[in-house]
Amino acid sequence: MADPRGFLTYRRADAPKRPKPERVHDWHEVYLDQTRTEAADETREQAARCMDCGIPFCHSVSAGCPLGNLIPEWNDLVRRDDWTTASDRLHATNNFPEFTGRLCPAPCESACVLASTPAAGGAVAIKRVEQSIVDIAWDRDLIVPRNPGVASGRRVAVVGSGPAGLAAAQQLTRAGHDVTVYERDDRLGGLLRYGIPEFKMEKAVLDRRLAQMRAEGTRFVTSCEVGGPAARDLSVEQLHADFDAVVLAVGALQGRDAPEVPGRELAGVHLAMEHLVPANRECEGDGPTPLSAAGKHVVIIGGGDTAADCYGTALRQGAASVHQLDQYPRPPDERDAELSPWPTWPWILRTYPVHEEGGERRFEVAVERFVGDENGKVTAVHLRQVTVRKDRESGRREVVPVSDEVIEMPCDLALLAIGFTGVEDMPLLGGLGLERAPRGNLTCGPTWETSAPGVFVCGDAHRGASLVVWAIAEGRAVAHAVDTYLLGASQLPSPVHPTALPLAAV
Ligand SMILES: Cc1cc2nc3c(=O)[nH]c(=O)nc-3n(C[C@H](O)[C@H](O)[C@H](O)COP(=O)(O)OP(=O)(O)OC[C@H]3O[C@@H](n4cnc5c(N)ncnc54)[C@H](O)[C@@H]3O)c2cc1C
Ligand code: SF4
Repeated sequence: MADPRGFLTYRRADAPKRPKPERVHDWHEVYLDQTRTEAADETREQAARCMDCGIPFCHSVSAGCPLGNLIPEWNDLVRRDDWTTASDRLHATNNFPEFTGRLCPAPCESACVLASTPAAGGAVAIKRVEQSIVDIAWDRDLIVPRNPGVASGRRVAVVGSGPAGLAAAQQLTRAGHDVTVYERDDRLGGLLRYGIPEFKMEKAVLDRRLAQMRAEGTRFVTSCEVGGPAARDLSVEQLHADFDAVVLAVGALQGRDAPEVPGRELAGVHLAMEHLVPANRECEGDGPTPLSAAGKHVVIIGGGDTAADCYGTALRQGAASVHQLDQYPRPPDERDAELSPWPTWPWILRTYPVHEEGGERRFEVAVERFVGDENGKVTAVHLRQVTVRKDRESGRREVVPVSDEVIEMPCDLALLAIGFTGVEDMPLLGGLGLERAPRGNLTCGPTWETSAPGVFVCGDAHRGASLVVWAIAEGRAVAHAVDTYLLGASQLPSPVHPTALPLAAV
């Protein structure tokens, strides 16, 4: 039984970060590597703040955790120092809590009953508890390969090794199927590997989980594009011949561009991923990035995770200055109950650790043009103060200047972090007879099956660019669907329906 007054006894405390001057000079994770005893003691107090509410909104898929993580249950186990059972209960709903514990924006915390009024001192630090449980479980060798008891004799191909593909593969392997994950990159992990920087999640964390999956029997093939033209690739004919079912977890990696902005063609103007991928490769030991921000004035256009990751990467590379530009107004620091009432995901200013490290964010500004020198290299951006209007009828957004003043900002490296438009155009889609929907995603029926029989879809490829937690949830759900397709019934959990959306105020 949880302590209903725990939140009055202990204050909310987030995980301590390393000093800024130290962390901007390396690629290690931002958070302090506490001793496990320290982490366990502090986490127990944080978990003790959970009241075990009658209706725990934090673990409801729509308002809180898309995985349906059993949050009050493991909070109480941690409070009672039972880390082994806490790890079991955490892994009952989440294949990779060490990824979400580090990366998730924690919609569960916005939906926590303690977040409904500031007087309660803030939500339970759920994400911190989640990370501590799994980190301690790894340290104590509680996480071991789980081999399936029986083999089904069915073969499944998973295309793409991001969190959605990995979750689907682990679930299906544990259900006894013979699973092969194909990845066109040279290393596994999707955006966990080449999008998200080391300072948010060190790749050793990913590699440790991949080793567990290998030991369980999941096979991995890298540098192999399914449907691709190269000799080492797997053809669609071979895919059909070799496998009883296929899971597409190919992501939504088509970067949004801004070809209409004058000067976009100048050298030094890039999509965000052109900066992040080689920076991550450098950390992997592949040699220096050709696109370092060292000594440069960096301008990042866009908000969100990708922009913040470019921001932190540029600071660590030794940029002369870093500016992040957003065309939208600065969100409020606290939840506005009219706009986003509890327990919905609130529209508030999201300040990532990198924003405390240097640089500057500017709101309600848009790039009017990129300015270049005689060598065709960007030297500055011209900005205008703007407002974003939404057309009531079409729903389209229009960016309108509100002043004639042109602001010039020096710029040697401009990074467009303005989102993704969906699944990339790839031969695999034509080979399977699939087309992208107008939003750029791949659609499916209620059982996650696409219009191609035996071919299922999950993760960003289905949902559009989203979050790691949704990718894992969809990977788990698609595994249930594929297991049912192959065997007629499934014991695997299915946390989300293909139409599931986060709760929002209308
Ligand atoms: C820079 C950045 C930072 C982010 N930070 C966060 C964060 O902090 N927290 C968070 O929750 N979310 C974050 N996200 C979002 C999150 O990373 C994604 O939602 C998640 O990775 C989607 O998982 P996925 O498995 O669907 O696809 P991906 O991770 O995109 O993986 C898809 C994989 O499929 C492979 N593939 C594609 N086609 C083929 C083919 N034909 N054959 C073989 N392989 C193929 C690709 O190479 C890729 O490896 C971030 C996204 C970006 C871009
Ligand atoms: S996965 Fe995300 S939403 Fe779910 S409990 Fe962890 S931090 Fe919260």
